[in-house]
Amino acid sequence: MNWNRKDEQPSVREALKPFGTTIFTEMTALSNRVGAINLSQGFPDFEGPEEVRQAAADAIMRGPNQYCPSMGIAPLREAVAEKMKRFYGVSVDADSEVTVTAGASEAIGAALLGLVEPGDEVILLEPTYDLYPPMVAMAGATPVYVPLQPPGFTLPREALQKAFTPRTKAIIINNPLNPTGKVFTEEELAFIGELCRQSHAIAIGDEVYEHLVYDGKSHTTLLQIPAFRNRAIVISSTAKTFSLTGWKVGYGVACQKLTEAVRMSHQFITFCTPSALQEAMAQAISMDDAYYQEFLERYTKKRHLLCRALEKMGFDVLWPEGTYYASIDISDLEFEDDLAFCRHLAAEVGVAAIPASFFWHQRRAGRNIVRFCFCKRDETLNRAIERLARWKSRGLVQSDAPR
Ligand code: PMP
Ligand code: GLN
Repeated sequence: MNWNRKDEQPSVREALKPFGTTIFTEMTALSNRVGAINLSQGFPDFEGPEEVRQAAADAIMRGPNQYCPSMGIAPLREAVAEKMKRFYGVSVDADSEVTVTAGASEAIGAALLGLVEPGDEVILLEPTYDLYPPMVAMAGATPVYVPLQPPGFTLPREALQKAFTPRTKAIIINNPLNPTGKVFTEEELAFIGELCRQSHAIAIGDEVYEHLVYDGKSHTTLLQIPAFRNRAIVISSTAKTFSLTGWKVGYGVACQKLTEAVRMSHQFITFCTPSALQEAMAQAISMDDAYYQEFLERYTKKRHLLCRALEKMGFDVLWPEGTYYASIDISDLEFEDDLAFCRHLAAEVGVAAIPASFFWHQRRAGRNIVRFCFCKRDETLNRAIERLARWKSRGLVQSDAPR
């Protein structure tokens, strides 16, 4: 006991101090405060399938409502294994290669905490999803940032090759990519796979938007790439595909050895994920092709509705190849940066969006990009479009701008 230190207040650990409150929390709070239409944080304003919600309610009433096996209940692990076969032709063993977690977020954390040693390097492709840098920091590792090349956010092959060092333990690949909606080509993934193979590094694939790939293209999971079969942990979530983001049911799929590492840390983080929700999600994942087709069609229409409208208003629009986010380029508008633009938009126009610079560690790189989510009812999107169009047509975009 150090008697002299008893009055000191504990405070946030050094590794986390640079991060602050997430931009999703900040923008949703601002949106609620000013009564804006919230196209910032990516969650639907409609409910997920009734039969899935009913299955969860039934499971809760039937019980048991006690701890389940740490790795996840067998029916959900089997449904995930079947899904990997059905959509990607990849055979995985439900008992030794699938782990259920509290959302994709916990799976990413469990993978990093289970595999990475202090001092290791983890490569993050930018834009990079908000939880990767703090998670890498909490694991005691060093993030190595490699920016994708705009405007298409292509892979900078030479820079990536140079970023791999003997200390590289892992690379995180978010595909389709939040926020810009890029979908990596199979060739790009194979290139990364080869670098990982040469460096004995692993990949963590964050594939939560796997069922939202547009224009007739299809998703390639890392486990389809031979170089990754025994060196990738593929992570997904039921949040987006079943419009139930609040349930936080996710999972990681990997060869047995990597799965052991994920399970090792997962058992000490949450131990297990709510069992009734797992039961319902086992049914959800096994729904027929018509569900998945209708889901993609619905979002294809929403993407078109928002992107066309923004284009008609005169914005330079980045149509996503995947995900449910569309972005605009604000470099021609007289705002200090994307955060100033988004604060103004929420407070004065009544539409909340996400300043994309928060997805880069050098925020300058993304300061001209603003992201809107379109996982909303058409009626909500139309109301937001009306507000934006009225504002844009009055020319207030320029004259109202803080200078
Ligand atoms: N990764 C990405 C790229 C995301 O956009 C999100 C948000 N759903 C997550 C992970 C977190 O997923 P979950 O809510 O299942 O933890
Ligand atoms: N994935 C969501 C988005 O990108 C945010 C989820 C969260 O708030 N952590 O908008």
